Amino acid sequence: MPEQFRKSIIFAFGNDESGAMKIFKFGGGILQKADDVSKIPGILGMFPGEPLLVVISAFGKTTNAIEELIASKFDRDGVPGEILNRIIAYHREIFKDLFKEDNLETQNQLESLITDFKSAVSDSPTTNFAEYYDSVVGYGELLSSLAVHHAIRQAGMDSEWVDVRQVLKTDSTFRDARIDWEASRKNCDKIIKPLIDKKKRPVIVTQGFIASDQQEHPTSLGREGSDYTAAIFANLLDAGSVIIWKDVPGILNADPKHFPQAVKLDEISYAEATELAYYGAKVIHPKTIKPLQNKNIPLYVRPFLSPGEPGTMIHANVPAGQYIPSFIFKSNQALISISDRDLSFVNEQMFSDVFGMLTKFSIHMNLVQNSALTLTFCIDDHPNLNEMLTELHKRYSVRYNQALELITIRHFNEKAVEHVLRGREVLLEQQNRTVVQYVIR
Ligand code: ASP
Ligand code: MG
Repeated sequence: MPEQFRKSIIFAFGNDESGAMKIFKFGGGILQKADDVSKIPGILGMFPGEPLLVVISAFGKTTNAIEELIASKFDRDGVPGEILNRIIAYHREIFKDLFKEDNLETQNQLESLITDFKSAVSDSPTTNFAEYYDSVVGYGELLSSLAVHHAIRQAGMDSEWVDVRQVLKTDSTFRDARIDWEASRKNCDKIIKPLIDKKKRPVIVTQGFIASDQQEHPTSLGREGSDYTAAIFANLLDAGSVIIWKDVPGILNADPKHFPQAVKLDEISYAEATELAYYGAKVIHPKTIKPLQNKNIPLYVRPFLSPGEPGTMIHANVPAGQYIPSFIFKSNQALISISDRDLSFVNEQMFSDVFGMLTKFSIHMNLVQNSALTLTFCIDDHPNLNEMLTELHKRYSVRYNQALELITIRHFNEKAVEHVLRGREVLLEQQNRTVVQYVIR
């Protein structure tokens, strides 16, 4: 087969001519109502004969609502009842629209999950906040994945629903748990692989974002972590490819909300995807790439609403020099400049003080630069900012600006720079061969 032709086949269908397993992820933004869920079986039908593991994240803004619920429960302000009822009603509505009332199995499973959810919420949060959070937050995923599983069955396909907490094991860093790869691999072999072998064309439906620790306590992988879950499964199962279905045509070179002329990137490298995510492009969860890169598994970001389109392919062999400029806009930035009161030069002690302070207050640094007398850094504005500034002020003279924007352009050119800076005031600029960044007002 001519190489060019082969490449376009791989581009459209993944690197698994052998029929290796595919991992799909559907989530949040694209699944808000029953109609959205109903589209999933059709998409699975486009991949006949291939084993599929489908990772689902919570419907719509459910995780945000559960976070509100948890916060109010923890503060004991009495509001959780109302928020809880709203979340439950939202899911009952979706189930009602999807399934007939005489579908007793589905109804019973939904009600029993709701009962578990209520009891998890009402458990008094005796433990720390993060542990309580993780015991409740995963119900968004448990409920949504149950709906998807039954929708697939209703469409006449076989589906197995798997509680991911039985499979993926983590340490006990609640809300930001680290995967225990060995234990998870063993569970995959024990629980997932037999389901793959058992049937001709199995679909396995499970949850993103959540897992459990050694003591079987629920854990979570960090907000938006479902993409990462898909990548973990791909690694553990040696999948042929991963497809993340999204509400955009693929990975774009800018957020279309900021930049109406945004265009789709057809093909980018693992490194490029990691860099874009690092600078704040909301494409995929930053942790997603590594487990795939380690096993050279291609990742596709494809449009849920035009599932025949190829989207963006992320893989290893992207020829250098083919990139167009990508723009990443981060708002709500603070720029801080400190200098020694005796006009001493900027030295290592000053860097050490600043980084120590950022670590102490859990503030992420986006950019740093120094001159002889001043050390300047840009951070996401943060509730702890004032406290940190007060501490810095004890030793240094401090100046700062808030409400700024950080613009990162990867693979910049003159035209791109001119375009984003038109009419803006640049407070700080930093550039290397590939990337230029501006802090602007
Ligand atoms: N539902 C979780 C969240 O909103 C996980 C995810 O969407 O990936 O953070
Ligand atoms: Mg979500």
